[in-house]
Amino acid sequence: MADEPPQKLQGTANLNHESAVSDSKPAYTGKPMSFFRHMSAITGYGMTPDSLQEYRRDFDDYYADTLCKRCEENRDWLIQYSPIVRFMMDQVKEVNGSLSSENIKCLPCSKDQAGGFHPKYGILLCQNKLRDRSHTEDTMAHEMVHAYDHLRFNVDWADFKHLACSEIRASTLSGECRPYQEWMVRGQWKFLRHMEACVRRRATLSVSGHPALKGDLDAAGKIVDQVFESCYKDTRPFREVYK
Ligand SMILES: [Zn+2]
Repeated sequence: MADEPPQKLQGTANLNHESAVSDSKPAYTGKPMSFFRHMSAITGYGMTPDSLQEYRRDFDDYYADTLCKRCEENRDWLIQYSPIVRFMMDQVKEVNGSLSSENIKCLPCSKDQAGGFHPKYGILLCQNKLRDRSHTEDTMAHEMVHAYDHLRFNVDWADFKHLACSEIRASTLSGECRPYQEWMVRGQWKFLRHMEACVRRRATLSVSGHPALKGDLDAAGKIVDQVFESCYKDTRPFREVYK
């Protein structure tokens, strides 16, 4: 066919954080981080669910600088050396976007999430929720799939089906649902089943986080089911999923 329409590029190439990031550092206002508090949290003695939550909040505040530094070091290392992160950065460039340490920001998060993508501000890495470098890598790849989708396809983030589709793709392609070694040796069939169930679960969880759904997992699950088959198969920009 000679008359195929040119691929439509969506979104803007500008993913800069503008005023989303405040550089002024708030003073620590929590309770003192004593040895006793650390030990209580580790052992569970003398901790109620409330005081444990307070401890975790204070911990994130108190160690914000350290957490931020660790997150930024991991981010910068991954930008340089991670094959999947580099691949996704190139793909985003292909669709006229630009991702770098300028618009991939490490910040503390209060919600239970590892990262986020905002069409205007770029990628958020939750410095207090990321366990280690490989968790950071999966999270960066996940959010980069959202960035790619935003630029490459006509994504309407307010449309639950669009959102669900991008979440399915992000979970499939990022590697966060890669099986552990023991699943690999049990054979391909089980591996695929695990992968699919994991993607479904994680996409449902993400979609339920949309403010309008207020954590309703049933409603989110139904939306994910509606688009699952077609979006799970859509592995662009990867040729296939080989994790
Ligand atoms: Zn997501």
